[in-house]
Amino acid sequence: MRAAVFRGGELVVDDVAEPVPGKGQVLVKTLACGICGSDLHALHYAPRMVEASRRVSGRPGMDLAQDIVFGHEFCAEVIEHGPGTDKRHKVGTRVCSVPVTFTAAGSATVGYSNIAPGGYAERMVLSEGLMIEVPNGLSDEQAALTEPMAVGWHAVERARLTPNDVPLVIGCGPVGLAVIAGLRIKGVHPILAADFSPARRRLAETMGADIVLDPAEHSPYTRWQDEATPEGFDPENPLARLGVGPQRRPGVVFECVGVPGIIQQIFEGAMRNTRVVVVGVNMESDTIEPFFGITKEIDLQFVLGYTPQEFALALHHLAEGKIDGAPLVTGKVGVEGVKQAFQDLANPEAHAKIMVEPWR
Ligand SMILES: [Zn+2]
Repeated sequence: MRAAVFRGGELVVDDVAEPVPGKGQVLVKTLACGICGSDLHALHYAPRMVEASRRVSGRPGMDLAQDIVFGHEFCAEVIEHGPGTDKRHKVGTRVCSVPVTFTAAGSATVGYSNIAPGGYAERMVLSEGLMIEVPNGLSDEQAALTEPMAVGWHAVERARLTPNDVPLVIGCGPVGLAVIAGLRIKGVHPILAADFSPARRRLAETMGADIVLDPAEHSPYTRWQDEATPEGFDPENPLARLGVGPQRRPGVVFECVGVPGIIQQIFEGAMRNTRVVVVGVNMESDTIEPFFGITKEIDLQFVLGYTPQEFALALHHLAEGKIDGAPLVTGKVGVEGVKQAFQDLANPEAHAKIMVEPWR
């Protein structure tokens, strides 16, 4: 079958072996698969990712000497059931799945594994038990947004928000936009969001940000502090710290950029007692000055991925129209177009999410 293959540090189009469903697996046709920032990262940082996962988990993850087919944000159609399946989804059913599959050799991440080719190929094998039917006639490409929306929903869930919190989202790429969508569903207001790109700021507004800010014009942290600060609050008054008089609303910052220096920037811009949720994936080493965190008593938290329940809920949010993902999809390509799409995604004015349609 045709696929965009990650081979020798490059993306090439080639024919790869047809996947065969093993026990409990189902062969599916890829209908749409989003290109994720993690895939862009993987193209540039693959050796570092392998090395880092070896150090973190003791497992190597991917063997870069062999082919890998990326693509973990997909909607697919059931073609054929493997042995030992219940056939609970009929042939022709459209499904989404957490990008994990169980094989005789153990579990594998679909799209980041040598044995589980992802959605940049015409066909994949998925585990029947993890597949969810796409409801309500939701379009293929919106269903393929389930995975990135689940990432945002998970971050918002892990932040343990209260209605009094004032959230600030730093970075409005697909991750930041998914966080904004999750915050809107949670009903926490005002939602502040900052990005240098005008197109991204427009999308932030569409996804539910109440106040969008251009960091080139003024500090998002100042505006956020203003929103959290009631009339009569005096940060210099020692009694205010003891809880006397009007108090600031608690601040929560979602870091959705993932480059060195951002966490320190947040430390410097944060109010006392801010909770910082790091959603952006920075593959470089980074430096922070802990003293900022200490004096401001900042809570620093990192999140990744989602639970299967959160994934299912994200699909539900899209299907019920609680999230309209349509404006996020800015392009569609076949497998031949994947390499160019990776480059095009560097321009935030032109693109947010490009869908791969390998059947094209
Ligand atoms: Zn992703």
